Amino acid sequence: MKNSIDRKQFLKQFGLIGVAAVGASTILTACGGGAETETAAAVDPCKDTSGLTEQDLAMRTNLGYVETSEIADQHCSNCQLYKKPENGGCGGCLLFNGPVTAEGWCNSWVINQG
Ligand code: SF4
Repeated sequence: MKNSIDRKQFLKQFGLIGVAAVGASTILTACGGGAETETAAAVDPCKDTSGLTEQDLAMRTNLGYVETSEIADQHCSNCQLYKKPENGGCGGCLLFNGPVTAEGWCNSWVINQG
């Protein structure tokens, strides 16, 4: 308690209260300001692989799955192996577990004939 009062008096005496407040705000923003953004990204269920096993994750990696295809006319939504979203959920793939984005792609892509 005494230390807190002494610190306030010290800062007031040297006119540093405003500087200390701005500095603390800057530090807090730099350290934790992105938490809200990270939380928003973390809750996107179609990109959340947190519930998958190591084996599931390895399968996705081995097939070169990416959430956004770099090939203009090849993406999960026009792949024969794509499982369309049901009831507003996420799409999936017949080759591995977990969510798949419609814009995604992997090296097993095959044109949907149907
Ligand atoms: S095989 Fe590949 S491109 Fe086809 S739906 Fe599955 S992840 Fe997407």
